[in-house]
Amino acid sequence: MKRSQLFVKTLKDAPADEVAKNAQLLIRAGFVYKVMAGVYAYTPLGIRVIEKIKQIVREEMDAIGGAELIMTALQRPDTWKETKRWDDEVVDVWFKTKLKDEQELGLAWSHEEAIIEMMKTHVSSYKDLPQYVYQFQTKFRNELRSKSGIMRGREFVMKDMYSACLDSEQHEKFYQDCIDAYMRVFDRLGIGEDTFVTFADGGAFTKFSHEFQTVCDAGEDTVYMNEDRTVVLNEEVMNDETLAEMNVTKEELKPVVTAEVGNIFNFGTQKSEEMDFSFTNSDGKKQFVHLGSYGIGITRVMGVIAEKMSDEKGLIWHANVAPYQVCLASIGDVSEQAENLYKELMKNGIEVLYDDRDVRPGDKFADADLMGIPIRVVISSRSLENNEVEVKMRESDDAEMVNLSDAIESIKRKLSALE
Ligand code: ATP
Ligand code: MG
Repeated sequence: MKRSQLFVKTLKDAPADEVAKNAQLLIRAGFVYKVMAGVYAYTPLGIRVIEKIKQIVREEMDAIGGAELIMTALQRPDTWKETKRWDDEVVDVWFKTKLKDEQELGLAWSHEEAIIEMMKTHVSSYKDLPQYVYQFQTKFRNELRSKSGIMRGREFVMKDMYSACLDSEQHEKFYQDCIDAYMRVFDRLGIGEDTFVTFADGGAFTKFSHEFQTVCDAGEDTVYMNEDRTVVLNEEVMNDETLAEMNVTKEELKPVVTAEVGNIFNFGTQKSEEMDFSFTNSDGKKQFVHLGSYGIGITRVMGVIAEKMSDEKGLIWHANVAPYQVCLASIGDVSEQAENLYKELMKNGIEVLYDDRDVRPGDKFADADLMGIPIRVVISSRSLENNEVEVKMRESDDAEMVNLSDAIESIKRKLSALE
């Protein structure tokens, strides 16, 4: 993509009304446009990051047997009345609207009940189970506070997966597979080392649910972990019983500020009983389906990465989620050679943003740093005197001169080292 054609505007200063660091950085670098508190649009740069995150999640969900679908944003009240969750007293984040004939509708804040209703039409016999489906969809939540930038949106993208199993044994296996898949996702996103499987309240059916909490100063949660970080608990399960079970004391557990990037939940048969979601088992008897729900906050993850990986110059994307792998900047009258290198990079499958604008070199460098593109390549009349280009990693202060004929191979090697 040529920078002169990209729909993007970078800013010197963050907007005065934006308090969250992730949104300040993302707005300045041109990834995000703020419409109002908790409501953000994503620019062509922003959407590339979202799509990269989604693709990593997609590959890992597919690898454990997930099948992708897409549900609707508009929902019927009766779907939610069966479990009493249409009631604003029970669910306090609903956005509701009406059809012309006054019939009420809801804007999806979750798809748990909606997927069960859909699954009921697909499952009648034990032969139809298990089913694992997931989607990426915009959720609407009328959050009371939205001061964490894209980490807490009133409109945000979630990956939600739902499992329907024959029994608890089948469920438990998938639940474990999902924990492992989630950790692979967070590793690939570059936040694996700081992300912890956290024991949280399990609700009515099971003792624990599991949250995936990433250490992050801007997070809204606090978890309690021991020194070697092998036991991580949400405060709601910090009672004598759990501590004994995990073989830790309260003194050993220290509070750490985190952001919840995902969570997984075992519903047992509670929801299927409420919504009469059953199947005929191999003995010909009616049995309730065992359900689970598995979320990842796609746009929250993007915000967490922005919070954690930046410096005074701007964002620093992990190569796996960067909008472009390379930023190519031309200096002086070298447009023909720059164009050739640009085409050569693309031919080799390298995602490149070519800054072809007629602006000062310092402006090009400042934008490349602000946008956090992992590798910067500069081609100038001076470098071409020796048939070279300058290659610099975003995180390093040192640049390297590379012969034009080796440039592609050198960039490829640098990129694979970053994965
Ligand atoms: P939280 O405790 O942060 O309010 P939640 O427990 O309500 O989140 P779920 O309903 O389970 O979260 O949603 C699944 C995932 O979606 C969460 O783990 C989180 O990563 C993300 N998420 C939830 N609410 C928001 C929001 N308002 N904006 C962005 N991401 C969100
Ligand atoms: Mg939560």
